Amino acid sequence: MNYFTSAKPYNSLNEYYKQKYGKKVAKISLNANFTCPNRDGKKGYGGCIYCSKELSGDFAGDKNKELKDQFIDIKNIIDKKWPNSLYMPYFQAGSNTYAPLEYLKDIYEKSLNFSDNIIGISIATRGDCINKKIADYLGELNKKTHVQVELGLQSANEATSNFINRKMTNEELLIAIELLRKNNIEVVLHIINGLPNECEADMLNTIDFINKLDIQGIKIHSLLVLKDTILYDMYKKNPFKILTLDEYVSITVKQITRLRPDIIIHRLAADGNVLDLVEPKWTIKKMVVMNEIDKKLRNEKLYQGIYYEKKEV
Ligand code: SF4
Repeated sequence: MNYFTSAKPYNSLNEYYKQKYGKKVAKISLNANFTCPNRDGKKGYGGCIYCSKELSGDFAGDKNKELKDQFIDIKNIIDKKWPNSLYMPYFQAGSNTYAPLEYLKDIYEKSLNFSDNIIGISIATRGDCINKKIADYLGELNKKTHVQVELGLQSANEATSNFINRKMTNEELLIAIELLRKNNIEVVLHIINGLPNECEADMLNTIDFINKLDIQGIKIHSLLVLKDTILYDMYKKNPFKILTLDEYVSITVKQITRLRPDIIIHRLAADGNVLDLVEPKWTIKKMVVMNEIDKKLRNEKLYQGIYYEKKEV
């Protein structure tokens, strides 16, 4: 099965949902006020160097409101743009499995009843915040609805992981993927292009690493330097190389051509809070970034997986 279109020669998320549900599916980003083991001291303090003050949930709902109210506020906006959509509550800010299981069950299951036209939930978390109990529970929930779990990899290079203070090994991530896949959960990995000290070969290696994993989706982002982050302090003291739009487009296109042909592409451009964005400024025009990627693929007659090489696991 592929979800390519003539405009987007790769498995686009929109097309995947359209074929599966016959309609547009919109994710509604929620902030359930979760913290993170890399913030509260269990693994580290301060978090990943690029993590924003909203714990990477800058476009999630207002954390001071009830989850249902956050959902309704955002749904009302989306309804004007895409009437008759289907919805997925998306637990975005912080590590959204980092709490006792009973609490998780309560908020996930309540969120499935926020509206009639909800087809499932999406949960962003860290690999080290998935254990067997949580994975088994999500597996049971997945029998009744569509459950998606998003995990942060950012880079396959462990030296980069140490530099960005991810405080999680690739091995921990692989264990989480295995637990989730045993329960048939759709797994989506996040990666970042343009991390300090990484060259194009590192970013392509991350795709080769991902290709060997039993994952179903990917989100590709550019690094964002945001105010009030450790990364911003580093950048002020010692400005590092920031990818230009052309470089980002060129690397991302190469990644798409190497990506395993069955993986669904959930995102190709980062979404930062404009008020906090320091660099790269071109990321403000997200549609331009996505259009440039699509255009380059079409003009050069490239498509997802054209250069995919199956390698030994
Ligand atoms: S894992 Fe996510 S929430 Fe936790 S510190 Fe890193 S970016 Fe922030």
